[in-house]
Amino acid sequence: MPTWQYILLFGTVILGGGAGFYFQKEKKGLLQVVLSFSGAYILGITVLHLMPSVFSSGEGYTGLWILGGFFMQLLLEQLSAGVEHGHIHAPHKVSIGFVISVMAGLGIHAFIEGIPLSYYGQLHELHAGHSHTSNHFLFGIVLHHIPAAFALVIMLLMSKLKKRIVWLCLIVFATMSPLGALLASIAIIPPGLQSGILGFAIGSLLHIATVILFEMDSSSHQYISRKKLGAIAAGLAISILTIL
Ligand SMILES: [Zn+2]
Ligand SMILES: [Zn+2]
Repeated sequence: MPTWQYILLFGTVILGGGAGFYFQKEKKGLLQVVLSFSGAYILGITVLHLMPSVFSSGEGYTGLWILGGFFMQLLLEQLSAGVEHGHIHAPHKVSIGFVISVMAGLGIHAFIEGIPLSYYGQLHELHAGHSHTSNHFLFGIVLHHIPAAFALVIMLLMSKLKKRIVWLCLIVFATMSPLGALLASIAIIPPGLQSGILGFAIGSLLHIATVILFEMDSSSHQYISRKKLGAIAAGLAISILTIL
């Protein structure tokens, strides 16, 4: 994976989280709009590019890997209190256990997602039946990790954690996807396992995208504001443009 992709992965999480130190709660509306956009974009690229790549790779059990990733993400979000999809639930009393749990949920997710990044380009070129650049997967990850980092920082600050510790948590989160990609590029992963892990990452992306899109307006059931509807339409449109 080229160096600029590592820098982008790491840098955008730091920027997204860094913004959390300055804006805090009054920007929750903006967070929702960014999330809606990323949810729609992720769903789009997953169905249009990622799924064709794994299903046409000819490896067995692809569907099982996807289901595994989907339900694994459901379990991980029990640990992370839902920061992946921008949920900010701070406990009244901060405990070290809560912080470790959030970081584990988020970190494992980001690490697993980083692994297929290192070989996705080749896999996509071989199997998707259309040729173009394969940066959409990278952008899909970046797009939902920015709001996740933002939500993480706000949640940790709300639980009265020291700023230094919050920065440390942010840096750990920012390191996980690049680390997954780096280790995968050093290790020799057999082709069957490659598409399996990509399938697993697809499952978790499907979970995140659908939760973002379905849970957006927990305050006003079934009603989606125009701003969010616009953001969803834009995310979907841009994902569709990538196959044209
Ligand atoms: Zn494609
Ligand atoms: Zn992710």
